[in-house]
Amino acid sequence: MVLNELGARINGALQALSKESVIDSKAVDALLREICGALLESDVNVRLVHQLRENVKKQLNMDDLATSSNKRKVIQTSVYDELCRLVDPGVQPWVPRKGKQNVIMFVGLQGSGKTTSCTKLALYYKRKGMKVGLVCADTFRAGAFDQLKQNASRAHIPFYGSYSEADPVQIALEGVGKFRKDRFDLIIVDTSGRHKQETELFLEMEQIAAAVKPDNTVFVMDGTIGQAADAQARAFKESVDIGSIIITKMDGHAKGGGAISAVAATGSPIIFIGTGEHMHDLDRFSARPFISKMLG
Ligand code: GDP
Repeated sequence: MVLNELGARINGALQALSKESVIDSKAVDALLREICGALLESDVNVRLVHQLRENVKKQLNMDDLATSSNKRKVIQTSVYDELCRLVDPGVQPWVPRKGKQNVIMFVGLQGSGKTTSCTKLALYYKRKGMKVGLVCADTFRAGAFDQLKQNASRAHIPFYGSYSEADPVQIALEGVGKFRKDRFDLIIVDTSGRHKQETELFLEMEQIAAAVKPDNTVFVMDGTIGQAADAQARAFKESVDIGSIIITKMDGHAKGGGAISAVAATGSPIIFIGTGEHMHDLDRFSARPFISKMLG
């Protein structure tokens, strides 16, 4: 079930409740059954769905509700708040500060949209008046440097990489060093991905992180991967200190479960979502507007 279908089904359940003449625990159970069923079909982790159901139930003391003149509103608000909690870890996202030499390291599996998102983020902060540089420390994938170079050139963003140096740690150090020397505000380091979470990948990420000491590490995850999101996000979290998340391909067949699992597994906030292949297809993320939009 894709994201807008999930929203429509939850909305439908909430509206059905509005039509009930008596709102008792049976009606609330039916509502929660429908909402939880929809979340499970959207690949939201079963543990989180169970938690949502319990939290809503706890908040809704049926005795109090019996006297509440606006039961429906209380129930709807409780469901809405719990949905927001699924995508909001309650952590203030890190933001680069102008005048400080901020370093961001991007991590994620190959094909997740890491390189594309690096350029998108660079462009986002360039438009905010920052001096931004991109470093390609991906020596694993053939053509990675050309891709970053091409994207960066199109966006008029300075870049650093090498066709001959095979050591990604060396490239990262040199690139960050160069942009630091030139007093760049924001230096974004793209690292290599692998097809799946592998030891070599994590070792390389740890070495790059130890060398460039990023102020923030952004984990990029494909929003369409569904149930695989939980294990993937956990594996990255164990190896690097994930500060923020970017969920890509939210324009496609993203089900929502992936984004929710990534937040739960890392405890880190989603900062942006990718909404297309073009450089400007990057939306700032915040939980409440996201859930409101999903519910239509
Ligand atoms: P990397 O291997 O993680 O660096 O992934 P790339 O940046 O090369 O992206 C892999 C593919 O996903 C490319 O075809 C991108 O154009 C595409 N892509 C990246 N982000 C998005 C997005 O937000 N929406 C869509 N539809 N495609 C995206």
